[in-house]
Amino acid sequence: MITRVDDRLREEASRYRLRFGCEHCFAWNDETGRCSHEFPNDEHVGVEALRSDRVVFCKEFELR
Ligand code: SF4
Repeated sequence: MITRVDDRLREEASRYRLRFGCEHCFAWNDETGRCSHEFPNDEHVGVEALRSDRVVFCKEFELR
């Protein structure tokens, strides 16, 4: 799911410490650096900085 990132989302992500990326998902495998479900995740790694104008959010994301 592609979500547009605007100043409001950046501010809320900072205030509430929102997480979007694989590194914070229960399915992330620290040892392999990959999704344990074998999902392609090139666009889901390292996205919490919200420095771009869009974030690609994985529908399977579940905070660990
Ligand atoms: S389920 Fe989605 S968010 Fe979680 S590690 Fe896999 S690709 Fe990343």
